[in-house]
Amino acid sequence: MKLAVIGKPITHSKSPKIHQDFANQFDAKIEFRKDEVTPDTLEKWLADFFKHGGKGVSITLPLKEAALKYVDEISDRARLASSCNVIYAKDEKLFADCTDGYGLAKDLEENLKVSLKGKKILILGAGGAARGIIPSVIEKNPAKLKIANRTESKALLLMEDLEGKVNLKEKNIIFEAGDLSDDFLLDDSYDLVINSTSISTQAEESLGLPKALFLGTKLAYDLFYSDEKTVFMHEALENGAEKVSDGWGMLVEQGAESFRLWTNLIPDTSRLIEKPID
Ligand code: NAP
Repeated sequence: MKLAVIGKPITHSKSPKIHQDFANQFDAKIEFRKDEVTPDTLEKWLADFFKHGGKGVSITLPLKEAALKYVDEISDRARLASSCNVIYAKDEKLFADCTDGYGLAKDLEENLKVSLKGKKILILGAGGAARGIIPSVIEKNPAKLKIANRTESKALLLMEDLEGKVNLKEKNIIFEAGDLSDDFLLDDSYDLVINSTSISTQAEESLGLPKALFLGTKLAYDLFYSDEKTVFMHEALENGAEKVSDGWGMLVEQGAESFRLWTNLIPDTSRLIEKPID
């Protein structure tokens, strides 16, 4: 089975190793490519890959929105997120889906045992990752969901977009969007604070969050993953968060869901989650 991960930058991607681990569980033979692709080369790359027997592709930055243009069918999850992280061929058609939110919810609720129902949740950032995860967070019926972004207009746009697609009033969810100012961040406390900004890609950088933000926080979750705790995780722990986690478990769980879409096989994720690969 021909699979691939595409994006730019792409050299750091752990997807080939994760999917090889999944394939080994079933003695399935896969060939997993890692190709640097930009929005300019995306259409041609997808056409060539699927013409030559490709089955599935993981889509990463900066292609998650652009890729939606080149498929025949878009899943509800991808439509709500306005982005996709997986494409697969089935019955002569190309399908796009978004498994990031599924991966996050599975990691939070099953691996970390943090339920989202009835909780107050703060999401920092309003980029592609935030778009991908928010529909799944809403599906879990939190009491309150707040999006805070450096560029406030992007957070407001994201909220507007979702309000047009999901009936939040019917779900009884308080939904707010704003900037990263202390006034906006500190007008409530949060059970869960999720960092979906890309700040942690720069090792020493801090979002400069107010210390009081983490008082009462049960879990501070950074979507970024690395061998060391991120600055966000350190600051959360120092300022009162009970527990922190990076996004490794989310990466593995979204990968498992993509693998299921490609192969109809459901891999065991527990070994990879306990022992991250180098
Ligand atoms: P993106 O689309 O480029 O969005 C970046 C976001 O970070 C924007 O909201 C941006 O705010 C904010 N930001 C960047 N620098 C900042 C700074 N110095 N101060 C405050 N805010 C800042 O990136 P993305 O695709 O959403 O990815 C975000 C993170 O999620 C990355 O670390 C990525 O590795 C991680 N991720 C993890 C997984 C997983 O499976 N674990 C999956 C997807 C993504 P502005 O709007 O103001 O620019």
